[in-house]
Amino acid sequence: MKKVFILGSTGSIGVNCLNVINRFKDDFEVSGLTINSNTELLLEQIRKYKPRVVVVRDKNAAKRISDKLPDGCNLFVGEEGLIKASIEAEYDIFMGAMVGFAGLAPTIEAVKRGKRIALANKETLVVAGELVTNLCRENASEIIPVDSEHSAIYQCLIGENLNEVEKLILTASGGPFLNKDKLFFENATVDEALNHPNWKMGSKITIDSATMMNKGLEVIEAHWLFGLPVDKIEVVIHPQSIIHSMVQFVDGSIKAQLGLPDMKLPIQYALTFPERLQNDFDRTSLPEIGSLTFFEPDLTKFECLKLAFDAINDGGTAPCILNAANEVAVNKFLNKEIKFSHIPLLIKRALDKVETVFSPDLGTVFECDKQTREFVLTIT
Ligand code: NAD
Ligand code: MG
Repeated sequence: MKKVFILGSTGSIGVNCLNVINRFKDDFEVSGLTINSNTELLLEQIRKYKPRVVVVRDKNAAKRISDKLPDGCNLFVGEEGLIKASIEAEYDIFMGAMVGFAGLAPTIEAVKRGKRIALANKETLVVAGELVTNLCRENASEIIPVDSEHSAIYQCLIGENLNEVEKLILTASGGPFLNKDKLFFENATVDEALNHPNWKMGSKITIDSATMMNKGLEVIEAHWLFGLPVDKIEVVIHPQSIIHSMVQFVDGSIKAQLGLPDMKLPIQYALTFPERLQNDFDRTSLPEIGSLTFFEPDLTKFECLKLAFDAINDGGTAPCILNAANEVAVNKFLNKEIKFSHIPLLIKRALDKVETVFSPDLGTVFECDKQTREFVLTIT
């Protein structure tokens, strides 16, 4: 019986993770649940999964449930509570399903304890990939990716030699604006940007899919996860989201992993690896799908993808600046404070303004994130 500690249990990945665990009650139990503020859903989850530890980051939300918890369920509050719980709670698998930079600090604590990290929170590797992967090596902690593209590549690499990889091919759906021209971005609404054709996800990653920053963050994530240079990572548009990603080897052979666009499968794989457990998920019917198509992304239209490639090529804290500026800009767009087309403009200004530091330590990464957020909050 493996104990799972879920960061962000009320989000899209968190809820899917609980759905998976519910199907394998003899293999997994939930030891901890952490959330930002949706205490109503958390209470339901507590009743069903009986965790020993829960964390509510929002202090007012925590007050709402402090007298409603069953005996034996300990409440931790705030960011300090999240760190403390990551250090103290009992678990074998840490499911990093929180969104944003805020996932970094608790994930580091789990890595220091040598735990298995099932990682959905791509921002952790984007902002501190070198530090986190080094810490993993030092503490014998393994990251099993949950992001569907990285799970696909992970599966394609089993039994292979990294030296024989020619390139990684990350597939991208292209998001809701794939067939719109750039002028459309001027007046694209929040509802239009949130209307993803293939995936149902949290709002931040859905906007990132519309700008294609999501694929940019995934290129950086892949670079750190698989230790390959960025010029060996290619992005290909594949609107059906059936091939989740591919690996091309030095002999020209390409391996791909296919499946329906449903995060339950990569979540299950990250929990059960190296085993595969039989499940009742819908199966992929290739005749029903009919055709799979591919084409190159348009980097002049999807400027965020280009900015992400530039940031990882610049190195140091540039990806951290990119990520912080993107988080603030996406939030501003969701709050209708800026246009969709201003998201890359704000990020560009932050990359020009905030100084890039090379070989940063963790303190420098936190300082860079803070400084960038403060700057982007003041511009439109
Ligand atoms: P979401 O917005 O649906 O859920 C986020 C969860 O994190 C919620 O439980 C929320 O309460 C919690 N949370 C948010 N901010 C917090 C904070 N500051 N402190 C503590 N908890 C906080 O997001 P999601 O779509 O589930 O995505 C989660 C992560 O997984 C993101 O990094 C995303 O890029 C990645 N991811 C998601 C998908 C997907 O299909 N949804 C696919 C691949 C990767
Ligand atoms: Mg993905």
